[in-house]
Amino acid sequence: MSVLEVKNLNLGFNCEDRFWQALYDVSFSLEKGKMHAIVGESGCGKTVSAMSILGLLPKNAVITGGTICFDNKNLLDLSPFEMQKIRGAKIALIPQDPMTSLNPLYTVGDQLLEVINIHQHIKGDEAFKKAVEAFDMVQIPCAETRLKSYPHEFSGGMKQRAIIAMALACNAEILIADEPTTALDVTIQAQIMNILNDIKTRLNTAILLITHDLALVGENADEVSVMYSGRIVENAPVKEFFQIPNHPYSNALLKALPDGGKLETIEGYPPSIQQIIPGCRFHPRCKYVMDICKKNVPLLYKIGENHLSACFLNE
Ligand code: SF4
Repeated sequence: MSVLEVKNLNLGFNCEDRFWQALYDVSFSLEKGKMHAIVGESGCGKTVSAMSILGLLPKNAVITGGTICFDNKNLLDLSPFEMQKIRGAKIALIPQDPMTSLNPLYTVGDQLLEVINIHQHIKGDEAFKKAVEAFDMVQIPCAETRLKSYPHEFSGGMKQRAIIAMALACNAEILIADEPTTALDVTIQAQIMNILNDIKTRLNTAILLITHDLALVGENADEVSVMYSGRIVENAPVKEFFQIPNHPYSNALLKALPDGGKLETIEGYPPSIQQIIPGCRFHPRCKYVMDICKKNVPLLYKIGENHLSACFLNE
């Protein structure tokens, strides 16, 4: 069941009297109890798509079209005050750097209890019990003692778990995890992903995973959207994506994954938002480019039941 739906989102930035488009007709949906990954290189628009959902865009960002439907409301129509009530309580962010979300001056427990108080209106012993439960769920040992620690006494992985515990304490229906394991080493990365998978299954939470790491997607996500230069170029169930990737960019990304053989690289660089590229924005780097690709924008072709790909080769 779809809990959030982004449809034809168009967004750009005003910079020095010019408008630069950053997102083109971005559409995807999140389902309860499923992890949807948006994958792509830095600057492709994946984080800005996620921040649009949270209403946390820079001041010069302008949404020029589209809808983000959650709870029978278009989030883009809500006032900053209404968005504030949804953010944290119903849709929570797990950032790349957890230190940006933890106040170094207060104990982690104080911060968690404040969240429980604001979002669940619970205080005292009952709130403390909830905080211990949240720490248990994210596998922080000796919860009662650790709640009295300050953020600097936590390792990177523990801080990330504390942030996830705060999202759980709000009973958030959607977790947006923006490169949640990039700053962590491999074993801790696996533990954090296990915790997110556990939450997804046990609490039926919808998770949006923003990442550049296709291996992480393959091991954890249920659905994947591949983004290139502001557009979603392929969308598929994860198993199908890895078995029969369709878009030339997806194929190139998969060939660049280390698998013991020779790594293949993708020629050239992704364009900046200031570069105006007619037709398919991948065409300057695509080895299958045709005349039509340089003039027209390929729409998303349906190539499987839930599999879409924006490439003229499917025509
Ligand atoms: Fe390559 Fe053309 Fe397909 Fe774009 S539309 S990915 S340029 S073949």
